[in-house]
Amino acid sequence: MFNFIGSGSAFNTKNGNTSAFVKSDNSLLLIDCGGTVFHRLQELSLLEGLENLYIIITHTHPDHVGSLGEVIFYSYYILKRRPTIFFPKKELIEGFLTSIGVSAEMYKLNSFERIEVNDTKLGEFSIEFLPVSHVDTIPAYGFIMRLNEKSFYYSGDANNISVSVVNRIMSGEIDRVYQDTCGLDYQGNNHLSLKKLCSIVQPEFRNKIYCMHLDKHITNEEIRDKGFNVVEIYK
Ligand SMILES: [Zn+2]
Ligand SMILES: [Zn+2]
Repeated sequence: MFNFIGSGSAFNTKNGNTSAFVKSDNSLLLIDCGGTVFHRLQELSLLEGLENLYIIITHTHPDHVGSLGEVIFYSYYILKRRPTIFFPKKELIEGFLTSIGVSAEMYKLNSFERIEVNDTKLGEFSIEFLPVSHVDTIPAYGFIMRLNEKSFYYSGDANNISVSVVNRIMSGEIDRVYQDTCGLDYQGNNHLSLKKLCSIVQPEFRNKIYCMHLDKHITNEEIRDKGFNVVEIYK
């Protein structure tokens, strides 16, 4: 199960940038690394004494990579460890990191769309990246992760849930879903409105869905009223 460092959309700074993690002893798996994330990781002492750091990046918007450079620098210079970055578009992430002064020897990059990792502390986990519909300007990914005998779908930023993912939720193949959800509902929205989420997921499956990346136009009550869950911020 993922813990959340933040649950906000890009402009909902009160909730912090949406980012999640799994930690076991001195291994940390981090999902996205927006502008507010490095600060929160320090506040929560999550980087202290780390020996293995893995970072999954869903896409290169600032609320998902804004402090990635700082986290890599901290890992390289202070922890003396090279973090492993997972992102399917090699040139894009390398170009971004080079442009902010993070050189290739400071991190390991894994750009496969299907990844299997065996970590001494986290155990075996797998990541299957899936392209999602978000914006026209950059690629965006969700992923399915298997960890501790459970399967999670994490949408990243996405304005839809693919039919194949919905089928895997209904068949029980996916145990839990973390979904970008917003209050605003309009044509051409880059995020998934609660209204559209209701049309995609039938009531009997809604208890598997955890809403995240929330904007200022939605409340936890509205989400729960429809039968969904809301992610809680780790303290
Ligand atoms: Zn985005
Ligand atoms: Zn975002």
